[in-house]
Amino acid sequence: MFSSSDSAGHFRRKREQSPRVLTTAPQAAPYPKIELHVHLEGTVRPKTLLEIAARNDYPLPADTEEGLAELYDFRDFAHFIEVWILTTNALRTTEDFRQVVVDYAAEAASHGAVYVEGIFSPSAFAAG
Ligand SMILES: [Zn+2]
Repeated sequence: MFSSSDSAGHFRRKREQSPRVLTTAPQAAPYPKIELHVHLEGTVRPKTLLEIAARNDYPLPADTEEGLAELYDFRDFAHFIEVWILTTNALRTTEDFRQVVVDYAAEAASHGAVYVEGIFSPSAFAAG
């Protein structure tokens, strides 16, 4: 175990040798994280929803990332569910579900996640 002065000295040496060490360090991820419960339909970003909706000829209330981002500014839980249903109904193909999983995994990893338990809600898709 390093004392704090050893650790600080080591950090300075690294910085002098290679400034990239600081810029590439995962600043938002100092500790490994786990996600034990995430509804993947709720992780879809506006850009991804636009792509999926375009592929599936699914109408959305906005046709820009900015417009959808405003929609994602939830007023209350009922509004959140409304947007969740909108997103859920846009997902149709294996490619759609794969894109949602891969996008979320990448985002979670960027925050330091090393383990994720993500779920889709099958009943929501069985009805449509
Ligand atoms: Zn849940």
